[in-house]
Amino acid sequence: MPASITRNLITGGAGFVGSHLVDRLMEAGEEVLCLDNYFTGRKANIARWIGHPRFELIRHDVTEPILLEVDRIWHLACPASPVHYQHNPIKTAKTSFLGTYNMLGLARRVGARLLLASTSEVYGDPEVHPQPESYRGCVNTIGIRSCYDEGKRIAETLCFDYQRMHGVDIRVVRIFNTYGPRMLPDDGRVVSNFIVQALRGEPLTLYGEGSQTRSFCYVDDLVEGLIRLMNGSHCGPINIGNPAEFTIRQLAELVRARINPELELVQRPLPADDPLQRQPVIDLARQQLGWQPTVPLERGLDATISYFREAIGA
Ligand code: NAD
Ligand code: UDP
Repeated sequence: MPASITRNLITGGAGFVGSHLVDRLMEAGEEVLCLDNYFTGRKANIARWIGHPRFELIRHDVTEPILLEVDRIWHLACPASPVHYQHNPIKTAKTSFLGTYNMLGLARRVGARLLLASTSEVYGDPEVHPQPESYRGCVNTIGIRSCYDEGKRIAETLCFDYQRMHGVDIRVVRIFNTYGPRMLPDDGRVVSNFIVQALRGEPLTLYGEGSQTRSFCYVDDLVEGLIRLMNGSHCGPINIGNPAEFTIRQLAELVRARINPELELVQRPLPADDPLQRQPVIDLARQQLGWQPTVPLERGLDATISYFREAIGA
């Protein structure tokens, strides 16, 4: 293998976002080590690359150390859906803390650049709207979302301490709600839930009144942002998300209009600590990365609906 080919380690590479990143880096002619414990990831997501000379698959849990010779570490391993990360919250906290600690140790040892997939959840249930990177957040330290929110906060802290103490080359991205093909049908996140419910002819489940808001980014836009951040010189933290903000009821209406306008919307209890509103300020991404989203929600939903039609045979 010529020395000039970049060697990438993608933790969580068999997951939703990770597998799209694998595709982009493989298509760019780079070398990819995909590492995953398959908690929420699937081999099917990266099956097309198995056997390719530039691709390797490693079953490993990031809470355990590992030594690999790589140039770049894309550290995505962590369940992202509330249903999944609340399944075993202690494991989620361990994955965030120990996983990031192990990957930073690896980055230090082999001199790799490390990108951490952090989250808009570091802003918690925000009192500042929309959320710039300078906002320090409003997170409940003892609630059912804390394992994830606080896990990502300490992961960010570790990155900046490894940068200050050991000169590790870090990139920290705060990802806002992202959707697209390869989300799991039973993932529990709102876009996959609504689409799968509608395709099965079931009512769409609004948690609470559906007046809470989110800003939804299509996965291809996110991956472009990750690549620009990794390739650039700005270390972050930097928001990547689509600033177009929708209520959850509006999202339900968009989905049902595309699949079956007759479907009912039913209310279910709002989960504890569910953030009321969320919208990224992306001025920094625009200035530092020349990045902004290009896929409007309507178009991204159409692509995601086509994927799920095939995936669940509806
Ligand atoms: P996902 O659940 O589809 O992917 C996570 C991947 O990490 C899976 O393949 C899973 O098997 C793997 N994983 C989990 N724990 C692991 C462990 N201990 N060791 C090794 N592998 C492990 O989630 P996603 O939506 O693709 O999210 C990817 C990353 O982006 C996560 O770090 C998440 O926190 C972050 N993020 C995603 C969103 C979003 O909207 N998708 C928003 C904010 C942040
Ligand atoms: N939600 C909903 N119905 C569902 C799933 C989720 O109304 O079937 C709501 C949820 O309460 C939250 C929003 O949709 O307010 C986004 O939820 P998701 O789990 O996708 O992401 P997060 O809350 O982590 O942003």
